[in-house]
Amino acid sequence: MAEIASPLDPRLEAFIRRMPKAEIHLHLEGSVRPATLLELARRNGVDPPAAGEAALREFFRFRDFPHFIEVYIAVCSCLRTPDDFATIVREVGEDASAQNIRYLEIHFNPETNVRKRGLDFHEMLAGMNRGRAEARARWGVEMRWIADGVRDSETSPWSVTRTVDWITALAPDDGVVALGLGGNEVGHPPAPFAADFARARAAGLHTVAHAGETTGPETIRDSLDLLQVERIGHGVRAAEDRDLVARLVRDRIPLELCPTSNLCTGVVGSFADHPFPRFDEAGVIVTVNSDDPPLFGTTLTDEFFVLARHWGYDADGLQRIALNAVDVSFLPDDERTRMRGSFEAEFAALRQDLGLQR
Ligand SMILES: [Zn+2]
Repeated sequence: MAEIASPLDPRLEAFIRRMPKAEIHLHLEGSVRPATLLELARRNGVDPPAAGEAALREFFRFRDFPHFIEVYIAVCSCLRTPDDFATIVREVGEDASAQNIRYLEIHFNPETNVRKRGLDFHEMLAGMNRGRAEARARWGVEMRWIADGVRDSETSPWSVTRTVDWITALAPDDGVVALGLGGNEVGHPPAPFAADFARARAAGLHTVAHAGETTGPETIRDSLDLLQVERIGHGVRAAEDRDLVARLVRDRIPLELCPTSNLCTGVVGSFADHPFPRFDEAGVIVTVNSDDPPLFGTTLTDEFFVLARHWGYDADGLQRIALNAVDVSFLPDDERTRMRGSFEAEFAALRQDLGLQR
């Protein structure tokens, strides 16, 4: 995604690499390393979508939306056992640690994996939680899960009901903190899922929906009115509706923005056209996220570079955006407060070290 951008002060570059980060919009199935996918395909006797790591990397690269879905399906077809899930979660933790990402809220699609691969939901989640425990023990990376219903699945809306059945019966240790809604927005408005979201809320779960990525502001409004979600995944197209932006500010509805993803999928034509800095200036609580890192050729660190290079964010601005993700996370209040404190201490030490004091 080469675009002309101003060079950065090396101290700011170091700041971006080393600063503590939290990511609240990342898809587990969209985060599998190409080399690992080859290994899983071999382990499970599945034909890999491309032979060799270089060819697979090329296959992973975003071309258009149908190809993106093809890659997603190919990845999922290689995930067959709970151990596979443990492996990919552990590696997400390792990749996070290399970027100093301390906390992640990770989307996954339980119903699709259960129905299409014959996995047992609880065994799959147990595998994910083994990987999560290892990431915590080895790298100090914390994770929570967002179970996504797929709005355009062939079994929708039943699949979302099924997902809610599963996740409302779990213990807090299982790590599922929210119900999410993903899949193709076009032709699949939020209304049929209202009862499922109400049931998740009544069980004490948080809620979030992808909205305003491929369809307009009305999907964001419907997600707020009918599903009563607390955060919006993407929400880029709120920029078309001044009243909606005012509502996001007034009601403190955070947006999980994924700039490189939006550029790849053509939601915006260039970083210069992306509404991120305008939302921020208007007072919307904005966060920055990578969505599906290997599929969009990005990382969370790269996304922070976009903020600095294309929109002129300095250390103060970057720190503020990083802390937004902690503040709007679905952690319990005491854990969130602790995490904010540790982020602030780490930021202060880093800024002192780099001579970037306020
Ligand atoms: Zn997403």
